[in-house]
Amino acid sequence: MTRPTLLVIAASLMLAPAAFAATNAPATASTAVAAAALPASNPFAQVSALPFHYPPFDKVQDADYGPAFTAGMAAHLAEINAIANNPKAATFDNTIVAMERSGQLLGRVRTVFSVMSGSNTNDTIQGLERELAPKMAAHSDAIMLNDKLFQRISTLYAKRDKLGLDAESKRLLERYHTDFVRAGAKLSAADKDKLKSYNGQLAALSTKFAQNVLKELNASAIVVDTREELDGLSPAAIDVAAGLAKQRGLDGKYVIALVNTTGQAPLSLLTNRALRERIMAASQARGSHGGEFDNRQVVLDLARLRAERATLMGYPNYAAYSLEDQTAKTTTAVNALLGELAKPAVDNARREAGDIQKVIDAQNGGFKVAASDWSFYSDKVRAERYSFDESQLKPYFEMHSVLTKGVFVAAGKLYGLSFKQRTDLPVYNADMLVYDVFNEDGTQLAIFTLDPYARGNKRGGAWANAYVSQSALLGNKPVIANNLNIPKPEAGQPTLMTFDEVTTMFHEFGHALHGMFSNVKYPRFSGTSVPRDFVEYPSQVNEMWALWPEVLQNYARHYQTGAPIPAELLAKVTAADNFNQGYKTTEYLASALLDQRWHQLTPAQIPTDVLAFEKTALTDAGIDYAPAPPRYRTTYFSHAFAGGYSAGYYAYLWSEKLDADTVEWFKENGGLTRKNGDWFRAKLLSRGGSADALDIYRNFRGRDAQIEPLLKRRGLNVK
Ligand SMILES: [Zn+2]
Repeated sequence: MTRPTLLVIAASLMLAPAAFAATNAPATASTAVAAAALPASNPFAQVSALPFHYPPFDKVQDADYGPAFTAGMAAHLAEINAIANNPKAATFDNTIVAMERSGQLLGRVRTVFSVMSGSNTNDTIQGLERELAPKMAAHSDAIMLNDKLFQRISTLYAKRDKLGLDAESKRLLERYHTDFVRAGAKLSAADKDKLKSYNGQLAALSTKFAQNVLKELNASAIVVDTREELDGLSPAAIDVAAGLAKQRGLDGKYVIALVNTTGQAPLSLLTNRALRERIMAASQARGSHGGEFDNRQVVLDLARLRAERATLMGYPNYAAYSLEDQTAKTTTAVNALLGELAKPAVDNARREAGDIQKVIDAQNGGFKVAASDWSFYSDKVRAERYSFDESQLKPYFEMHSVLTKGVFVAAGKLYGLSFKQRTDLPVYNADMLVYDVFNEDGTQLAIFTLDPYARGNKRGGAWANAYVSQSALLGNKPVIANNLNIPKPEAGQPTLMTFDEVTTMFHEFGHALHGMFSNVKYPRFSGTSVPRDFVEYPSQVNEMWALWPEVLQNYARHYQTGAPIPAELLAKVTAADNFNQGYKTTEYLASALLDQRWHQLTPAQIPTDVLAFEKTALTDAGIDYAPAPPRYRTTYFSHAFAGGYSAGYYAYLWSEKLDADTVEWFKENGGLTRKNGDWFRAKLLSRGGSADALDIYRNFRGRDAQIEPLLKRRGLNVK
């Protein structure tokens, strides 16, 4: 059960190299000097005085960002130049550690700006984002392509075994060397100029892609004239639709807001087939039907520039460049996995379609199942087979109960954590929840925040990010945020979640645990600073506790009566866990495949017609099954074209191999116990990127991961 949701490391929206991941830390002498250029009234001028350096959201005005970015970049460059031009010979401390300490003012503003542009944006922030993206790319280039700096790193790298470094420090040196080489440090001067031009254009284009996706999502909302057409939706959902219409000045009508995926939640409920078709058509047309927010040319430009950039760096294509730094290493390995699973997944989806067709035929529907029908009728099949449907479950999944009696309780039983809500820290949205997180011995581990609801000014999906990353070097403890997109109920109504949303909440909290348990020295290795095809693994493991009987019985209580979920309903939910896996795997693989196809093109192979290319790519791979379309189509596929998952969407399935193998480990060892939690925390969750990811895994598991548990879970081992 996997939700391909999104993890964003702070500031990754601006394509910043991870080497300069945002940190909030006490200012060093040099940042204090440079920050003097910034008026003290600017909230970014000083380190936040709030607990754990929690961001001062209440003090930040839109007008504060521009000056803070300007001063932050200047201060950072001054620090870097001082390191590069240091007359003393390079040492680990005066070069590598000094870089780890640099850029703190910029880190402060970039963290908050990234939070706002993702979760609470407006026209001013979007304008600034477009303006800043190329500037930040140029800023990064000014550092990564600094010859003198690279000379110092190279000198140290060459004698890394003789410096007497501990394991984490030695790895940091190696990591810096790799980061610089991969950023173009070894290119000729002329090629460096070309690279800078590519980086600036790419930053601007991916910002444009992301902004188009959000604007198109809002513009594609479905307007419905009559209440009758909404048959199947709950009265509360109809109230929400009426409220959305009112907000748009469409009194008396109804508006169905879309989410970022191809599939849309109301499709499982709406009895009106024509309306279902309208919703699915609008969802799939996003970004490719002309108009202001069309992303087709943006995609072509991004694909071409990425291919050209990869060629310049000496790689056959962008995916080859990108995968080299992941645990997968090569396009061959990724293609093999996707190729191996495509046919069994589609075969499963076709079998499921057969079951669905029987229900349609039994009702004399007189049509063949289409994508817009799938979730409506698969719910019917599920209801028939397991005799329950989503509407029976929702009253047991009230949001606060799921969070505090489910997610938090599981973390308590595994890791001894406890949580205390606080309302004194500033929030950027009134619905945000803030918690102090304590270890079993009473010491405070972290601050955790949750921004649960969907809004028009918040991007789609779910993600985790760090407001403050843990680092012993800088003395920082973690402040970690989770973001979800649960539809907000009308005032006074409870937030009742779907089981998918419940699973997503557990998933994102798995990322939060990875950030909160981080126990590393260097910011570069903090928490989720691991390969992208590894980072989804701990979060996916945490999903297992959503269905763990001891946890589920605790949180799944009727929101009105407080009655626990009936044992027979619970048994059905567990039994149905593998239901619809053919569809889910197919829609996911289709998107993962598109991501690879786009990014495995050479510059000469870039097509001119986005939709034709998409169709051919799916057909060639045998995954062109219209009733189960890609979870994201090209023109609204933010993972591939805006976020940090370009050529990396395969990572969810790749990580799931480790996830499924780890779930087996928990089960073999008695499940939800403090002993298991402590082992997982000590050996894996606390390590961040401080060692090779697969070495960390072996150290935890005692061997490499096996693929059989994954195949079994996804129903792909049945020939
Ligand atoms: Zn995730």
